[in-house]
Amino acid sequence: MSKLNGLSSRYRVDEGDGFRLGVWDPADTNGLSDDAAMQDLARLSEVQEALYAQNCWSMLLILQGMDTAGKGGAARYVMSRMDPRGCYVAGFGRPSAEELGHDFLWRTGRHLPERGRIGIFNRSYYEEVLVVRVHSGVLGSQQLPPELVTRTIWEERFEDINAFERHLTRNGTLVLKFFLNISKEEQKSRLLSRLDDPRKRWRFDPTSVAERQRWDDYMTAYEEVIRATATPHAPWYVIPADNRWFALLAVASAVVDAMEKLGLTISEVGPELQEQLLSARIMLEND
Ligand code: AMP
Ligand code: MG
Repeated sequence: MSKLNGLSSRYRVDEGDGFRLGVWDPADTNGLSDDAAMQDLARLSEVQEALYAQNCWSMLLILQGMDTAGKGGAARYVMSRMDPRGCYVAGFGRPSAEELGHDFLWRTGRHLPERGRIGIFNRSYYEEVLVVRVHSGVLGSQQLPPELVTRTIWEERFEDINAFERHLTRNGTLVLKFFLNISKEEQKSRLLSRLDDPRKRWRFDPTSVAERQRWDDYMTAYEEVIRATATPHAPWYVIPADNRWFALLAVASAVVDAMEKLGLTISEVGPELQEQLLSARIMLEND
């Protein structure tokens, strides 16, 4: 039995009602130590190959978390085990003028994975109920008709996101959402190490420090997001992320578990192709 099997299930939230972020420990490692854990990721490439070969399901992995939580690292890690033809990452920063001219789902919709593929979103439409909510000024830049900006706008966005994810899952896209849960202390040490190390300095984004001042507002916003949008068809995973290695392992485990549940197998080739393969073999052997 692989260490990956089932590891993610304890971090999975299918039903958001009553969700409280405070009880989730960012430093949890499920009793594992890092040297024991980093093996056995071959399953990740196997399940992806089956997904690609079957060309029918697709998978959307959404990575959310505070700056330095490890979104980029998690995307790199999952990708590193996969055939690059079948997997890609799309990142979503501050929207461009063109993007602001459309509804809030538009820009991500263009990057959804086609059948057989895995799409990884580094940030996503969830920013629309996170950063946009924490900084009330941002909403003002969205050119929405003023009468549509009411006190229920966040509820409405949750509703739209749920409907959208329903739509995706009903059309064969598995949707897995990850909140990389780091502690405020761990973020401080990661930010400082970016400043300390000349090779990491380019990664330091001064706005991280300002966002950090709003830490509690962000945690409240995340809690409400998970409450409102954790569903059995599109669950959230609250990934303990203070230990990088563990976060990677837990994300990979969730991906493998979700794909194994589909029971994908690489099917035998049909009789016609089998005949061609047989004559190819004969030609090769007599060559
Ligand atoms: P990074 O991913 O670190 O390059 O940063 C991207 C920045 O863009 C973050 O500060 C996000 O909060 C911000 N961002 C992402 N999506 C939106 C959005 N829809 N509206 C405003 N800011 C956003
Ligand atoms: Mg950043």
